[in-house]
Amino acid sequence: MIDFTLTSEQQNLRERTRAFVTDKIIPYEGDIRATAHGPTDELRQELNELARQAGLFGPHIPKNWNGMGLNHTDMAIVFEAAGYSPLGPIALHCAAPDEGNMNLLVKVATPEQKDIYLRPLAAGETRSCFTMTEPNGAGSDPTMLETKAIPEGNHFVINGRKWLITGAEGAAFTIIMAQVPDGYGMQSGPTMFLAPMASEGIRIERNLETMDSSFTGGHGEVVFENLRVSADHVLGEVGEAFRYVQVRLAPARLTHCMRWLGSAERAHDIAKNYASRRRAFGKILGEHEGVGFMLADNAIDLQQSRLMVWWTARELDCGSKARHESSMTKVAVSEALFRVADRCVQILGGLGMTEDTVVNQIFREIRGFRIYDGPSEVHRWAIAKRILKSH
Ligand SMILES: Cc1cc2nc3c(=O)[nH]c(=O)nc-3n(C[C@H](O)[C@H](O)[C@H](O)COP(=O)(O)OP(=O)(O)OC[C@H]3O[C@@H](n4cnc5c(N)ncnc54)[C@H](O)[C@@H]3O)c2cc1C
Repeated sequence: MIDFTLTSEQQNLRERTRAFVTDKIIPYEGDIRATAHGPTDELRQELNELARQAGLFGPHIPKNWNGMGLNHTDMAIVFEAAGYSPLGPIALHCAAPDEGNMNLLVKVATPEQKDIYLRPLAAGETRSCFTMTEPNGAGSDPTMLETKAIPEGNHFVINGRKWLITGAEGAAFTIIMAQVPDGYGMQSGPTMFLAPMASEGIRIERNLETMDSSFTGGHGEVVFENLRVSADHVLGEVGEAFRYVQVRLAPARLTHCMRWLGSAERAHDIAKNYASRRRAFGKILGEHEGVGFMLADNAIDLQQSRLMVWWTARELDCGSKARHESSMTKVAVSEALFRVADRCVQILGGLGMTEDTVVNQIFREIRGFRIYDGPSEVHRWAIAKRILKSH
């Protein structure tokens, strides 16, 4: 049965989250602690406390880890409402990369690893990062992994360089993707490791200046120099990292769609408001067909995006890995939302270029989404391969 009606619980969740973001979080958007490298940890923790008081902390975190334990469909509703402010997902503790990392740890980590890493992360006491991309190695093609983890007794010695690592500055720990080479008398291949960022052998070389500014800690370049990680800090099994990457990435790319959908909706509301009151050539802007059509196209793109998100969320809730669906949704939604944000800047005229509205930031944030969690071209290529294979 296809039914797009929200249950009363879902409507209530949406209204509660939207009201919380509007009343409590949007007023923080001009806070000086919302820096070019994202909200500071002090601001993040202040916002987390507000979300806890509102009963909205950790919508995706399982109940036994003190979260709300929502399924993907309900997450789609709450994350969209949270995304109405770029600070909303930070407040609810459902922003990247922590949200995806928690999901991975819940599914793959040992009880001891959960105790050390997941417990404080789920409580919002710490942050984490995920170190996969390399300046000259793993990127669109993650199999080009250059970072090596050499077995040495009961340890691995890791050397390599990563960059674009969201939240590296200030993270308590990282999930490292590294290659265990053949020839050491054990299982080899791409492997995930857990390591505290304060370890000897981890250095943040720089924090990159980027277009976006919503992720706490910004995006860093991280060097591993003879980092020693004990065998009990392997996440999952040696050689299985790409299997776990899929565990993390398919839901994570969908949650990005959910959050940015909310932000694009905010930009649309601001543009709609401007087009309803600003006049040019004897009438309000929205009555000029050129502007009215942009508003109409925005509404179409937003609703199409929402339906694709709900569809993929439902697939995940039904137990599917939803690789194909999440790839299609990621391409369609990241591109649709970018069109929405771009039209909003255009409708606002010069105001759209200024920081007097949040549309400027939303435009910059959404641009990056066509690149991370798989560039559009790579997803199209993977979708095409699956289509051909199915014949
Ligand atoms: C804001 C932001 C946050 C990020 N956070 C993290 C993080 O926390 N951790 C992490 O590990 N990484 C992170 N990344 C890195 C991100 O995952 C990579 O940027 C992405 O995988 C692309 O890799 P690349 O930048 O090396 O691009 P490249 O691999 O150099 O590719 C460049 C371009 O080539 C094109 N291309 C590539 N392959 C194909 C193909 N098969 N067909 C057609 N065209 C193709 C695409 O247009 C692509 O954009 C982040 C990136 C950004 C922008």
